[in-house]
Amino acid sequence: MKIIVLVKQVPDTEEERRLDLATGILDRAAGQSVADEINERALEVALRYKDGDKKGTEVIALTMGPESATQALRKALSMGADSAVHVVDDGLEGADIARTAAVLAAAANQTGFDLLVAGNESTDGRGGVVPAMVAEHLGLPLLPSLDSAEISESSVTGEVTVDSGSLSVRAGLPALVSVTERSAEARFPNFKGIITAKRKPLARLSLADLGLGSDLDAAPRSVVVTTAERPARSAGKKIIDDGNAGVQLAEFLVASRLI
Ligand SMILES: Cc1cc2nc3c(=O)[nH]c(=O)nc-3n(C[C@H](O)[C@H](O)[C@H](O)COP(=O)(O)OP(=O)(O)OC[C@H]3O[C@@H](n4cnc5c(N)ncnc54)[C@H](O)[C@@H]3O)c2cc1C
Repeated sequence: MKIIVLVKQVPDTEEERRLDLATGILDRAAGQSVADEINERALEVALRYKDGDKKGTEVIALTMGPESATQALRKALSMGADSAVHVVDDGLEGADIARTAAVLAAAANQTGFDLLVAGNESTDGRGGVVPAMVAEHLGLPLLPSLDSAEISESSVTGEVTVDSGSLSVRAGLPALVSVTERSAEARFPNFKGIITAKRKPLARLSLADLGLGSDLDAAPRSVVVTTAERPARSAGKKIIDDGNAGVQLAEFLVASRLI
């Protein structure tokens, strides 16, 4: 069984995140970048299946991102992934969601897989659509936003929370699933994992390696039109209770459309 886990490197949510206001592109130099936590949970789902004495199981971490995204892959390798694939190419700078999905699908195709596991939504772009778009490119069934996922030799099952309750869902392999922050708590890399991660295979692929390039350049693409800094917070309004504070509070909530 070959399981590909889609791992995105994102700015650390513990730090302040910034857009370059001139280009609308993420300012990666402004803070530290890390593997998205939701992807560590996705990896955990795959590793738990591998742990169940599935010697034939191979877990591959796949990312598309700048040079620095190698760190996210090394983290995945130290947690237990067997190998990693990094799609890195100057032509991908400013890639929008559609391009990202097309490139990830091509890389998955070239790597080969029985199952793809992704996070349901990244903590930076927060599009929440890359897994569905990759599944569409690859013609795969998609089980989105699983709170839990169980892999077997021929299928994957899981639970999804919906407004009125929960659903149990199943798809035959090959398939793609995305998991939520309620899914498997990710393990910490141990010392052995950190040491062996350095020796595990990490392949670098360019757009040309994937047979992509001119097609992607010609594809329609979303662009950032303008960017603006969030206005500074203004001081709140103080309500002094002189007998009608309740009315004033209610009026404030109505005016703010909070009730
Ligand atoms: C006009 C425009 C320009 C942009 N320019 C840049 C840019 O220069 N640099 C930049 O970093 N972003 C840029 N972005 C954002 C970038 O397109 C998205 O972050 C990216 O396409 C993924 O979308 P998302 O984060 O919303 O994914 P979501 O759909 O929220 O992600 C869900 C899951 O998909 C998988 N996934 C998503 N992206 C990747 C990835 N790259 N590698 C592996 N797995 C992945 C992960 O498992 C993730 O948990 C731009 C967006 C737009 C609209």
